[in-house]
Amino acid sequence: MPIRLYNTLSRTKEEFVPQSPGKVGFYACGPTVYHYAHLGNLRAYVFMDVLHRVLRYHGYNVNLVVNITDVGHLTDDADQGEDKMEKGAAREGKSVWDIAAHYTAAFMEDVKSLNIKQPTTWCKATDHIPQQIKLIKDIEENGFAYQTSDGVYFDTSKLDDYGKLIAGFDKEGLQAGKRVDMGEKRNATDFALWKFSPKNETRQMEWDSPWGRGFPGWHIECTAMGCHYLGEQFDIHTGGIDHIPVHHTNEIAQAQGAFGRDHVRFWMHNEFLVTDGEKMAKSKGEFLRLASVIEKGFSALDYRYFCLLTHYRKPLTFTWEAIEAAATARKRLTQRVAQLKESAQPAGLPSAERLEFQKQFAAAVYDDCNTSQALGVVHELLKSDLSDGEKLALLLDWDSVLGLKFAAATIPSTDVPKEVQALVDEREVARKNKDWAQADKLRAEIAQRGFLVSDSEQGPVVSQDNT
Ligand code: AMP
Ligand code: ZN
Repeated sequence: MPIRLYNTLSRTKEEFVPQSPGKVGFYACGPTVYHYAHLGNLRAYVFMDVLHRVLRYHGYNVNLVVNITDVGHLTDDADQGEDKMEKGAAREGKSVWDIAAHYTAAFMEDVKSLNIKQPTTWCKATDHIPQQIKLIKDIEENGFAYQTSDGVYFDTSKLDDYGKLIAGFDKEGLQAGKRVDMGEKRNATDFALWKFSPKNETRQMEWDSPWGRGFPGWHIECTAMGCHYLGEQFDIHTGGIDHIPVHHTNEIAQAQGAFGRDHVRFWMHNEFLVTDGEKMAKSKGEFLRLASVIEKGFSALDYRYFCLLTHYRKPLTFTWEAIEAAATARKRLTQRVAQLKESAQPAGLPSAERLEFQKQFAAAVYDDCNTSQALGVVHELLKSDLSDGEKLALLLDWDSVLGLKFAAATIPSTDVPKEVQALVDEREVARKNKDWAQADKLRAEIAQRGFLVSDSEQGPVVSQDNT
């Protein structure tokens, strides 16, 4: 079954065929480490992880590269304003290097808690300054760059299709409507490849270059590191939708300037996580982290499950009620898996029905990573007549995409009080007599006492209802 992925560039779902048979080159824009990652950022990495897992599930050998933006960039997209890293350092009275190390470590913890698979390579922008300088030189030699008193800029007027990633991009309109501080730029959409350090000032992060001492522009690191690790053209590049109009648009321009062609075949973007109708953003100062969710008694996997419930190209609204509901649903699911582990017999040869479920799950995840539909298939499976062994075999297999740690699911050890056990036994008698109404009534009584009962091939399984 082929994988189909929505490509922002073509604005359609396309069949995905990697450029080298069996191998996928995949680059994901990583975090800017001047602050903790917020829940919105982490949605981007849950999406990256699902895509990574889907590609592996299909059998591809995936080379995933994720960067860490530890170079200071200017706070606005027009290459003006304050440096985010220096701002973070000043806020905390530390050096920019300490800030980067601290928030990178915090991000890695979040990655681990969310069961995000390790990429092949993590790469820091500050470790790849020579590659960035080389790329700028190539762009300059090909006639796409010019120098001003404060830096080296990309001349976007040299590209006929600049802005093609954005639907309805209006280059003329943008140039005429003077919203952008032009400085010495030739065109409103031109952007910095290299910025000079301010005269008579030493920045905490600065490097020598053929044009003068300074630091790279924001966009160059991703093109330089992506092509360094994955070659001049690779298969997939991801990020949040905020990266479409500026960061990724300018990445395409840089590759065209340096190599004379696009470097990425599939551009994929996740929609925002929103709260109170607004995008969650680090620059707003106050935001929710994974730690904020954990402090309230949820687990990181509850947040992962919450993300999986909505397709990555749809906005996702965070509310405490919604995470609560996701946590309850995940707990029930995990308990069911744990019960199946206790009761299941080895599955044996797959039945036709099992193969049909397998097909439905694959169809969902290969259809542009439709995890909400895939979770629907999980629930249908649990309701089905398949044997416990077949159910468990499928769930463990599917968890290689869902990443919900089914293999570790255990029934919390509970001492079942005598009166609850008596109700369970009574319910078994009712079931044997096919008195379903009585069996349901007893199940409700058991639930009122805080216990869940489910039926396995080996008889009833009782667990504490912690929801
Ligand atoms: P940053 O650390 O700001 O570079 O962002 C890291 C990733 O998070 C990027 O791919 C962003 O596009 C993405 N992102 C930022 N805010 C949100 C949000 N509210 N919802 C989903 N993704 C986001
Ligand atoms: Zn990037």
